Amino acid sequence: MQATMMNVPLSILHFMDRAGTLFQRNTIVSRLPDKSLVTHTYGQWHQRTLQLAAALKAAGLQKGDRVATLCWNHHAHLEAYFGIPAAGGVMHTLNLRLSAEEIGWIAADCKDRFIIVDDVLLPLFRQVLPLHAFEKVIVFPFSGAPVPAEFTDYEAFLAGADAASFKTEPHDENDPIAICYTSGTTGRPKGVAYSHRSTVLHTLVGSLGDHWGLKGTDVVMPVTPMFHANSWGMPYGAVMVGAKLVFPGPHLHPDDLLDLMQLHPPTLSLGVPTIWMSLIQIFDRAQTETPGRWKLPAGMRSLVGGAAVPESLIRAFDKHGIWIMQGWGMTETSPIATISYPRAELAGASADERYRRAAMAGTVAPLVELRLKTDEGTIAPWDGKTMGEIQVRGPFITGRYHEVPVTEDKFTADGWLRTGDVATQDDLGYVRITDRTKDLIKSGGEWISSVDVENVLMSHPAVAEAAVVAIPDEKWSERPLACVVFKPGQSATPAELNALMLERGFVKWQLPERYEVIAAIPRTSTGKFWKLKLREMFPR
Ligand code: ADP
Repeated sequence: MQATMMNVPLSILHFMDRAGTLFQRNTIVSRLPDKSLVTHTYGQWHQRTLQLAAALKAAGLQKGDRVATLCWNHHAHLEAYFGIPAAGGVMHTLNLRLSAEEIGWIAADCKDRFIIVDDVLLPLFRQVLPLHAFEKVIVFPFSGAPVPAEFTDYEAFLAGADAASFKTEPHDENDPIAICYTSGTTGRPKGVAYSHRSTVLHTLVGSLGDHWGLKGTDVVMPVTPMFHANSWGMPYGAVMVGAKLVFPGPHLHPDDLLDLMQLHPPTLSLGVPTIWMSLIQIFDRAQTETPGRWKLPAGMRSLVGGAAVPESLIRAFDKHGIWIMQGWGMTETSPIATISYPRAELAGASADERYRRAAMAGTVAPLVELRLKTDEGTIAPWDGKTMGEIQVRGPFITGRYHEVPVTEDKFTADGWLRTGDVATQDDLGYVRITDRTKDLIKSGGEWISSVDVENVLMSHPAVAEAAVVAIPDEKWSERPLACVVFKPGQSATPAELNALMLERGFVKWQLPERYEVIAAIPRTSTGKFWKLKLREMFPR
């Protein structure tokens, strides 16, 4: 027999129309370059999104054509998220923190036809222009200034569109809707193209109670850029349930985020650990210097990932009633592949145990299969000790890169994605990331996890940030070097830091060979600790 269910293709445009009708009064707040706020209803957003789609089609966009965005997080970027696919196009989010040369290369590789760019980013964009011939440059007047005559004004583009007679482009659930390039820490960046189907499934899985637990009553503040793995898919989720969105625009300094939190207290936020490390330091200092200036939104859930989340950070926020959920994933995995959430088996666990678990990458998400492959080619047992490379498979995991041949270093012969991350799994299946393959430190034939060392160093009260990298060593082949940033006016000696490590169960050979005190840890284009740069700064 056959199932009797309708075979309706999964489509993100269903979320778009749903929000535009059912949730038409709910709001989307965006912070403008002058720090003022502008509010749109989902009804207005829906209308503008359809206008954008109609205008793109009228401008000659064909199915599958790429439309790039070079934008901060704001309502117009959300219009692009849905308006480009509604016109049959593929949104290509460009990372505004890359160099013009890198952006130009990526745009050319992706064959972007059109681009939507924030006016405040025109100085950067003008350097990209000679590197790739966009057929149409649509400038969003984010600052309110007139758009230079040589470009198309986004608002005029929308105003001239006939949204009333616009019909969304017929599509299949496997059609692409968006493409993101990996940051390419090794080799050139590579494109990962998401489909309607992968995005809908990822949105549903991400929104589960054990994950974001997204509700229509939520106030969501996405600090993760909309060009970083589609802000981890959160914009699709917020639109699906009609949650209020609060976009920080270009103002990502902790002072600005804290100010915004006073005006529109979020119930859910997301960002990489470094953002929250700086924010909590600034907040704690203000508590003594300017008491009462800010309140943290108690009860907020915060999805933090993209890099290891130190236990000390989770504890620091929990003191203020904010619970950090750690997620692990990558551009290739849409990105959520694992999330750390309180499992039923841990009911009644001590606070220390809860923090310890929260500092892990967590449990694999539904629809994703995960295995750890050891150096010997076996699957690592769930013993919490045996390390292996994480390999994943599933309907929102990429099976290849855009127009790049499939190679064995990225995909296994039996069809799993090789993530290049090394982890262990314990008896409950909790994944603990030890390192990226390239960041593990091999000392005298034994591995040292830089993440584990960093975790302990960052739990020292004087340490603001710590990053550990390998330095070459004649005798041991590699040894750990710890780069430490102290909190203002505070310090600790190497002996004190080593004593803490020994207290936490490390043995002598695992202690950092050397400590370097630096003013700040360099950040990657997605705001993570930039270990490659540190290795360049301290080659030996
Ligand atoms: P990139 O960091 O290269 O810009 P991604 O944003 O796709 O690209 O990052 C994916 C990588 O980030 C993962 O392969 C992993 O190394 C790291 N990562 C993500 N989440 C975590 C986490 N919770 N703990 C440790 N590392 C993480």
